[in-house]
Amino acid sequence: MNSLQAAGHLKHLMHLLPPSTESNALAEAAPDPSVLRLPNDADAPAALSAHLQQHGLQAGDLARIELAFPKFTDGRAYSQAVALRRRAGFNGTLRATGQVLVDQLLQMQRCGFSEAQLAAGQDLGLGQRLLGGFPGFYQGDAQQPLTHFRRVGQSVGQHVSQRIGQRVGQLGRAVSLHAKPSRDFDALVASAQATLLAAARSGVAVTQASSLGAEDVVIRHLIESLQLPIPSFVLDTGMLHQETLDLLDLTQARAKTQGFSPVAVVHPNAQAVRDFVATSGPEPMRQSVALRKACCQIRKVEPLQRALQGFGAWITGLRREQADSRAAIATVEPADPSAAADSVAARTKYNPLADWRWGDVWHYIRLHQVHYNALHDDFFPSIGCAPCTRAISLGEDLRAGRWWWENEAGLKECGLHVQATTEASPS
Ligand code: SF4
Repeated sequence: MNSLQAAGHLKHLMHLLPPSTESNALAEAAPDPSVLRLPNDADAPAALSAHLQQHGLQAGDLARIELAFPKFTDGRAYSQAVALRRRAGFNGTLRATGQVLVDQLLQMQRCGFSEAQLAAGQDLGLGQRLLGGFPGFYQGDAQQPLTHFRRVGQSVGQHVSQRIGQRVGQLGRAVSLHAKPSRDFDALVASAQATLLAAARSGVAVTQASSLGAEDVVIRHLIESLQLPIPSFVLDTGMLHQETLDLLDLTQARAKTQGFSPVAVVHPNAQAVRDFVATSGPEPMRQSVALRKACCQIRKVEPLQRALQGFGAWITGLRREQADSRAAIATVEPADPSAAADSVAARTKYNPLADWRWGDVWHYIRLHQVHYNALHDDFFPSIGCAPCTRAISLGEDLRAGRWWWENEAGLKECGLHVQATTEASPS
């Protein structure tokens, strides 16, 4: 019995339907209400809820939900499947349709699909062999959120959990997909190191704000390599993905064994969250931009202000390439002397990776074998709260997976990173 079997994570394989001669074209609504076909841009849990209400059905009455892959570079159905399994708790049949390539089947299964309709000309036997070739996965998935090292840790001891966990970040595909250094990569690293050294020697206390995303684990690695006295903090909004919490656990375990300071974990004010949820519901962010910003204010902005108390400067993983709204950020953003003393703007902000490109970040991760968030392997370049983050397709903006239902230009920031000329703040 291998360790995956020992961890009880053998999968029930997806059911494959042979190539259909019928069109897989997506209809807005199927004539049979027991079959729900969702458009690719739908908020799947909300659409499911509306459909059930409209037809007076329970989730168990549905024969299936169909999610389409209109082209093979469009991965939004992955996010919809995960949302239906995790957020909506849907445990019925989820069928993948459209551009269902056989080399995507394992990923579909991990995202919660229970069956797939192959496209014309595809080899049913090959698909079944590919599906059966792997007994399980190291990362969690839509139905089993714990990562493999956590499952093993529960069954055979924490030391095994940590040993296996240290390999998790090296097994994914984000590195092979993205790692591509710029010609001046060495100069970019030297510049980032110089920025961090300048921050450490600036004469004020400095801290790193980390979302545990790819940029932030690189910065943490640079800080530790230079042995700089710069602590890190994470805002645990209460809405983080399990994968992010897993990486936080792993980071804390590493800090303990290697003698680094643990990451400070800052939570929102519990009473403020309770009051907000009581008046606005558990997921108000989709009702309006104002409510989304109110949620960010309570879960991110106010905790950030608290996390920065006692520090005169902070370090972020912002890069110019991430979004148009970040195209003009400076490596060092001076404190605003006119800002209120307890405000974020009253602190100097260092952005040591401002000039780095996405390929540089992943090249650094590959070079130094840095542990990273498993969500990056699932096409999440930008990682935030679970209800507000989705995977993106090839060609989409790196921030396209954040608050994607909001179309207004310039709104895709949660307020953590205020421009001097605006009132808004973090992300
Ligand atoms: S990102 Fe979403 S869940 Fe997180 S604080 Fe903002 S609105 Fe709330």
